Amino acid sequence: MPAIPPTRRIYGNRTLNLRSIRAIGYDMDYTLIHYRVDEWERRAFEHTRERLGDAGWPVDDLAFDPESVIRGLTIDLELGNLVKPTRFGYVIKAAHGTRFLEFDRLRRDYEGTAVDLSEERWVFLNTLFSLSEASLFAHLVDLFDEGKLHGVHGYAEVYGAVRSTLDAAHMEGRLKQDILTDPDRFVVPDPDIVLALLDQKHAGKRLVLITNSEWDYTRRMMAYAFDRHLPGGTSWRDLFDAVIVSAAKPAFFTSTRPLYRVIDEEHGLMRPNVGDLERGAVFVGGYATQLEAHLGLSGDQILYVGDHLYSDVSVSKALLRWRTALILRELETEIEAAQAFEPSERKLLELMAKKTGLESDLADARLARQRAARGYAPSDTDDGVDARIDALRRDLARLDDEIAPLAIAAGELRNAAWGPLMRSGNDKSLFARQVERYADVYTSRASNFLPATPFAYLRAARGSLPHEVHGPPPTVDSS
Ligand code: IMP
Ligand code: MG
Repeated sequence: MPAIPPTRRIYGNRTLNLRSIRAIGYDMDYTLIHYRVDEWERRAFEHTRERLGDAGWPVDDLAFDPESVIRGLTIDLELGNLVKPTRFGYVIKAAHGTRFLEFDRLRRDYEGTAVDLSEERWVFLNTLFSLSEASLFAHLVDLFDEGKLHGVHGYAEVYGAVRSTLDAAHMEGRLKQDILTDPDRFVVPDPDIVLALLDQKHAGKRLVLITNSEWDYTRRMMAYAFDRHLPGGTSWRDLFDAVIVSAAKPAFFTSTRPLYRVIDEEHGLMRPNVGDLERGAVFVGGYATQLEAHLGLSGDQILYVGDHLYSDVSVSKALLRWRTALILRELETEIEAAQAFEPSERKLLELMAKKTGLESDLADARLARQRAARGYAPSDTDDGVDARIDALRRDLARLDDEIAPLAIAAGELRNAAWGPLMRSGNDKSLFARQVERYADVYTSRASNFLPATPFAYLRAARGSLPHEVHGPPPTVDSS
């Protein structure tokens, strides 16, 4: 079998032996079915903007810019900002409304603040569905600052309006109808997913679809994406042991909710489910422990594959100890950008090693000067120490001039405004930290399980710690 390119590999935070997995749950939107993000999110943005316009908000001129936000950012409801935190919650980049903060303002706003997602102040952008929300919020912050949102009293209120209006746009039929009318325009085809699921089913895995989408949308989208790639006479329904729609994740994982069964699939008529879950049927609602009981399996025998970092991956892992796979489409462009940057990255590391050496020489020279001046300890310094310190400072300034453009380019990889998804400055991003914590494995698309096979042993990468960095300590010719 040909080697799998890095963009399509499955990356492991914790080892996952697919042979010991007995059931696989799949999310639908952005997992089994991938959308053209700019098209989908623009449509969501426009429907939401229209609704706000109808309510009298001055939003006619606002336009969605898909490059202006990325998943993994955090909204700061207190200051009306979008921020990119490190894994420790330190904010290294922020925009107020649609404008990036200068360094001084950034420091003033966030000195002594660490983003803690358990606080109400912060809203984490968990999924690609969040992009329209964040973009609209940023535009409305601009309008609020200009005094154009009459009767609105703060950024949290602005966000509340965006949230409830976007919710309504998703729930009400027109947005979904746009997608259903012209799916070719919105869906990125991926026939490999069909064979991946067939392989898993024939390997004895019980497959379950668990989606927040409603029945009518689910059946039409699944039929569109799957049926033409399946062997004749079969449909997507034959793949799944159970189909659960309107699952209301994360509540599906966190609470007990009534379970209904769809009794007339054409018209979506349903009634409360009595007794066990009949194999192959369609259900509405319900909850995860009920599904575990139906499958007769414990959490570590179930793998759930989804794209929503919180609703799909974080709660199913934290509460039920299900095995988890996060679908992260951005990984493909993230890896491509990093590969293209590799020669510059090497140069940057080389320059940084040089800088570390010069800084160390400078510190030594300063200490020698101090000892010589105060006389409390022997010092081997000579009369030229001041000149040496000046020379080192000049060398460092020159080096910084060389480093700066490379460091800036590294911070703009994949997305010119916000940079990479998984890194914040020199550190891992808060998003990367969440992925590490909750996703046993992560990969760019669900169809990457095709080459991985249902028999794969997905080994965790060996984590690295600061003291484990290999290679000789940086040496420098500071002459
Ligand atoms: P899933 O990813 O298959 O669970 O389905 C996601 C569903 O949630 C889709 O039907 C989306 O339209 C819907 N959805 C996504 N974002 C929002 C939102 O902000 N409010 C309400 N529904 C949403
Ligand atoms: Mg999804």
